[in-house]
Amino acid sequence: MDLSQFTHQYDHLSRDVAAFRRAISNKLMYQVGKNPESARPEDWLHAVSYAVRDHLVERWMKTIRASYAQDVKRVYYLSMEFLIGRSFSNALLALDLMPTVRQALTELEVDPDVVIDLEPDAALGNGGLGRLAACFLDSMATLGVPGFGYGIRYDYGMFRQQIIDGQQVEVPDYWLAHGNPWEFHRPEICFRVRYGGHLEQEGDVVRWVGTEDVLANAYDTIIPGYGTEVTNTLRLWSAKATEEIDLSAFNQGNYFGAVESKNHSENVSRVLYPDDSTLSGRELRLRQEYFFVSASLQDILRRYRVNHRDFDALPDKVSIHLNDTHPVLAVPELMRLLVDEHGVPWKEAWALCRRVFSYTNHTLMHEALETWPVDMLGRVLPRHLRMIFDINADFLADLTAAHGHDVELMRRVSLIDEHGERRVRMAYLAVVASHSVNGVSVLHSELMRQSIFADFARLWPERFNNKTNGVTPRRWLAQANPGLAALLDARLGTGWRRNLHELAALREYQHERDFLDAFRSAKRANKQRLADYVGARLGIDIDPGALFDVQVKRMHEYKRQLLNLLHVIARYQAILAKPDADWVPRVVIFSGKAASAYVMAKQVIRLINDVAAVVNADARLRGRLKVVFIPNYSVSLAELIIPAADLSEQISTAGTEASGTGNMKLALNGAITIGTLDGANVEIREQVGDDNIFIFGHTTAEVADIRAQGYQPRNCYAANPQLAAALNAVRDGLFSPGERGRYQAVFDALMNWGDHYLLLADFASYVEAQQRADALYRQPEAWTRSALLNVAGMGLFSSDRTIDAYAREIWKTTPIRLDAASVFE
Ligand SMILES: *Cc1c(COP(=O)(O)O)cnc(C)c1O
Repeated sequence: MDLSQFTHQYDHLSRDVAAFRRAISNKLMYQVGKNPESARPEDWLHAVSYAVRDHLVERWMKTIRASYAQDVKRVYYLSMEFLIGRSFSNALLALDLMPTVRQALTELEVDPDVVIDLEPDAALGNGGLGRLAACFLDSMATLGVPGFGYGIRYDYGMFRQQIIDGQQVEVPDYWLAHGNPWEFHRPEICFRVRYGGHLEQEGDVVRWVGTEDVLANAYDTIIPGYGTEVTNTLRLWSAKATEEIDLSAFNQGNYFGAVESKNHSENVSRVLYPDDSTLSGRELRLRQEYFFVSASLQDILRRYRVNHRDFDALPDKVSIHLNDTHPVLAVPELMRLLVDEHGVPWKEAWALCRRVFSYTNHTLMHEALETWPVDMLGRVLPRHLRMIFDINADFLADLTAAHGHDVELMRRVSLIDEHGERRVRMAYLAVVASHSVNGVSVLHSELMRQSIFADFARLWPERFNNKTNGVTPRRWLAQANPGLAALLDARLGTGWRRNLHELAALREYQHERDFLDAFRSAKRANKQRLADYVGARLGIDIDPGALFDVQVKRMHEYKRQLLNLLHVIARYQAILAKPDADWVPRVVIFSGKAASAYVMAKQVIRLINDVAAVVNADARLRGRLKVVFIPNYSVSLAELIIPAADLSEQISTAGTEASGTGNMKLALNGAITIGTLDGANVEIREQVGDDNIFIFGHTTAEVADIRAQGYQPRNCYAANPQLAAALNAVRDGLFSPGERGRYQAVFDALMNWGDHYLLLADFASYVEAQQRADALYRQPEAWTRSALLNVAGMGLFSSDRTIDAYAREIWKTTPIRLDAASVFE
C-alpha cells in the first residue's frame, strides 16, 4: 500500500472538512439567519444545502457560458412531470463530497442522517413517466448533452398518502412550506400566457384579441452531471397574476374583488393532476398544458435569438422533445409564434416545426390517449384550434395528393375525431408534427406501430423508432444501495457509475463463495434496514431472513396488484391446510398510490390492508407469511424498499405496460423478476437469461386471441379450486368480517364484468412461477448467484444508454465541451 498517497488524501479530506465546516456555519448565520444554539435540524439542512450548492453554481455558470460561446444545439425536454425526489444526497454524490460533508456535519454535532431524512421529495409527478424525465435529466448532464427540462412548478405536488383504517386518504403535499434551497427564482424571466378571447381576421392576418392573461415566472433548479462539470437546468414555471387589475372594480372601491379575480389566474400552477394514465377532462388541465408550453416556447425562441437574426437555423440549434402528448400544444404554439409574432410564412414555419419536434409515446391504452373537445379548445385557445384545423387541412391535402382520395383513410388519420362530440387527437398531432416518434421498449414500439399508429407507420415508416427506457445508476444503485455499491467498487472499480456495462464483469465471480456471501450480506443489511422501518412505522415485525416479495408502483388494474394478492390469499389458505409442510417464509410488500378518483384501485388498497390484518394476526402461520402495505410510495421510499427486495413483481397483462422502469431498478439491486412478457421485461429476460427470471402468463398475442374468442373468466374459476377458494374468501368477507359484502364489487369485476385484465386466465401460471421462486430460494447459493447475474445483466438499462441514443439518433446533438470536462479522470 502506498501510504504517502493515503496521507495525501487524508490531508486533502481534512482540509476540505474544515472548509466545509466554516461554509456551513457561514450559511447558517448569513443566509438562514440562525446561530448554532437556536438552529433546528431544518436550519442545518438549509445551511449545508447552500454550502453544497455553491460548488454546483460555479460549474453551472461555466456550462452556460460555454453553451453560448459554442452556440450548441440545445435539447428542450418538455414534460408535465418531473419526479425528482431529494436533491441533497444526489448533489453530494455528483460532487463526490459525501464523506467530506458527513464529517463536517458530525464535527458540528449535527447528525447527517437526520438532516438527509428531513428533505422533502420534489414530487412533481405521478409515477414512471415523471421519474423517467428525472433520470433523463441526470443522464443528459452526465453525458454533457446541452439539455433543459421545462415543466410546471406546482405548489402542491403528488399528494401524500395516509392509510387510515386500511383506506387511502390523500393529504396535500405543500413541499415548498419550508423553502427550497435548490431553486433560483428568476423574477425577470416572465412571459405572458394568453387564454380565451376571439380571433379577428384582416386578409391573411389573424389577430387573437380580448384574451385573459397570466404571467409565467421562471424558477431554475440545478441539475448536476456525475463525473463531469457539465451542469444543466430544469426550468419550472409558476403562475403569477398580471399587474393590470380590473380598474372598474377598483374604482368602485372593490379593491379586494379586483385582486381576488387576478389571484384566481394563479391557480394554473397550483396542483399536479393526480393521475398519469387516464385523461382528466378538466379545462384546468388544458390550461396547465398550454401554460408551461407557451412560456417554454417563448423562452426557447428568446434564447435562440441571442445568437441568430432569422429562424433558418432553428432546427440546427433547437430540438424540442415532447414527453407524451401533454406538451403537444407546443406545435401550434410554435406555429403561432413564428407566423403571427415573427411573420414567418406558414409553409416555412411548418417545415421548421417538422424538423424541431420529436415525440415519445408512453401508452397504448385507449383511455389514456389525450383528446380535447373542439368546443373547449375553441373557447380556451381559439388561435390554436384554428392552427390545428389549418395543419389538418394541409396534411389531408398532401395525403390525397400522394395516395388518392381515400375517405376511410382520411377519416382514420384526421387530427379531428368526428365521432360524436368532435375532438382533437393530440397523439396524431404529435405524429404529424414530429420527425421522430418513439416507443419505450422493443415490444411497445412494435405494438405502437401495429395498433394506434398503424396508418401513420405505413405512411411514414422512417419516423418510428424504439428507445428502451433506462434508469440512472447514480440514484438507483450508488445512492440507494451504498452496501452493494461498495462491494462493486471493491471488485470492479467505480467505473460502473458512468458505464453500467462494466457490471457484466460480475459474471466472473458467480462461483466465488466469498463474493456470493458478501453479496448476500449486503442484501441482508438492506432487508434489515427496511425491517427496522416497517417495525418502527407500522408496528409490523418482519423477518429479514424471509423472502421479500415486492410490488411497488402506482395502483392500477392493469398492473394487477390484485393478482398478486390472490396468490397471497391462496398461499395463506394452503399454509393453513398443511401447517406442518416446509414453507418458505415470505414477506409480501406492497406500496403505491391510487388516483384519488379511481375507486377500484382504492378498493384494492383496502383489500390488501384487510388481508394483511388477518394474515399478520394469524398465529397458525408461525410467521411464515406476512403482508405489508407501506404508505406513501415516493422516490425516497423507493430508494429504501428496492434495495431490500428479493423478488420483483412485474405482472401486468401482456401488452399493457409500455416499458416499466421499476423492473429495471429492482433487477439492478439484485432482485429476481417474476413477470409477464410485457414491456421491458422481455428485454430483461434477454439480458439475464431464461434461468434467472420467472416468466409466466399469456403473451400479448395470446391475450388478443383469448379476447377475440370471447374470454370466460368463470371457466378459470370452475377449473381451479385454489383460485375459486381465494375468490370466494374475498367475496364472502373473510377479510372484512365487520362488513361481509365489502368486496363484492371486486369479485364481480373479475367474475361477472369480464376480468378485463385477465387475472384469472394467468392465475395458475402465476402460482406455478411462485413455486419456482420458492424452490430457488431454498437454495441460498443458487438464489444469490441468480440475483448476481441479474445485476450483471443490467448494463443495457442505464438511462445513459437511452439518452446517448436519443442524442445521436433523434436530437443530433453533440456533447458540450468544457475545459477539463471530466473531473474524475
Ligand atoms: C420507478 C418509479 C415508478 C415507476 O415504476 P413502474 O414499476 O415502472 O411502474 C413509479 N414511482 C416511483 C416513485 C418510482 O421511483
